[in-house]
Amino acid sequence: MFTKNNVNFDKYFLIKQYNNNKLLDISHNYLQLQFKNIDIILDEIRNLVIRGDFTLGEKVHEFEDKICKRVGSKFCVGVGSGTDAITLGLKACGVGFGDEVITTPYTFFGTIGGIYNCGAEPVFADVGTDFNIDPEEIEKKVTTKTKAIVPVHWAGLICEMDKIKNIAIKYNLKIVEDACHCIDARKDGFHAGLFGDVGCFSLHPLKNLNVWGDGGFIITNNEEIYEKLLLLRNHGQKNRNEIEIIGHNSRLDSIQAIVAIYVMDNLLDNITKRRIENSKYLTTKLTNCIDSEIISCPVSDGSNKHVYHLYCLRIKKKRDELLNFLLNNKIDAKVHYPIPMHLQKPFIKKYKLGDFPIAEMLCKEELSLPVHEFITEEHLDTIVEKIRVFFSLH
Ligand SMILES: *Cc1c(COP(=O)(O)O)cnc(C)c1O
Repeated sequence: MFTKNNVNFDKYFLIKQYNNNKLLDISHNYLQLQFKNIDIILDEIRNLVIRGDFTLGEKVHEFEDKICKRVGSKFCVGVGSGTDAITLGLKACGVGFGDEVITTPYTFFGTIGGIYNCGAEPVFADVGTDFNIDPEEIEKKVTTKTKAIVPVHWAGLICEMDKIKNIAIKYNLKIVEDACHCIDARKDGFHAGLFGDVGCFSLHPLKNLNVWGDGGFIITNNEEIYEKLLLLRNHGQKNRNEIEIIGHNSRLDSIQAIVAIYVMDNLLDNITKRRIENSKYLTTKLTNCIDSEIISCPVSDGSNKHVYHLYCLRIKKKRDELLNFLLNNKIDAKVHYPIPMHLQKPFIKKYKLGDFPIAEMLCKEELSLPVHEFITEEHLDTIVEKIRVFFSLH
């Protein structure tokens, strides 16, 4: 820890986040296991260095083609991060300074940063108890300045896109989907990110399709938007000598494209399958032994394929005590997240406690359990048993 201008920074908190599993029996972190056999990736990287194909080369295009095939989109553009995907997606839809963008206070900051970085102002609308933005709340927030909606498909569950699309049509708004939790998620057969104008994804190490650092991508079926995105990620350059628009430097790194291709080709089907199996197993076991007045498990109807990037419970009594109890029993329960965006320091001048009651309630109730591909049925039985014991004592 060090202190500068009266602000406490913990500049090593990310290192701790990646290493906390050493003290735990059942951990959220699985990266050392996932990347145990890396020789194929390292060989590809060696070839890349020999070719000198460092930026926007063959591997980035190969990755983009594979994403199009996997999700069923016409176009894909690899960018520097999930946050950049949101910024460039909004810009490509014509959103910028002076515009308002409606989004959820129940999200990771990347959604909000992505909106600010294009020059627009985020306007919050409360969520429902499924953690996703409530379409009725969106409509209440529309003003003459509103240009776009950024729904976040929280945890891997796609929002009520029919209703959100109707609002967008009624008020002539763009939809930029924050689908960072949603690789492989589908609703009525359509992949996340294909309901609006663009869909934004992150390749961060802790996402379901992950690389060895930062990365992201955008999908769209709109050719005009696609062409604008190609310019926006690469300085606005049309060719070596001519600048067409004001752009960014936000190219998906070729090295990360190699890692992403490897994960997609070799691991992702199993990652998605195992997360769904583990989550359904937990839900069945927890609903059998604990009253729904105390715990509610994530739900999704048959048409909505939830991919459980997070397995988010609502613990309606003694959440923090349960969290500590599980950690003391070496089970890595987490809270995603304890503070809604409107109550974070940069926004507290504009908003106050009570403004978004459902989001605030969920921040007090949410508890995530690990469901990744290395979690076994035995782990899950241990977790359920500990939760059962906790509530039999409280
Ligand atoms: C991870 C994440 C982002 C940002 O992704 P980065 O690649 O870290 O920039 C945005 N929105 C949500 C909901 C996320 O979980």
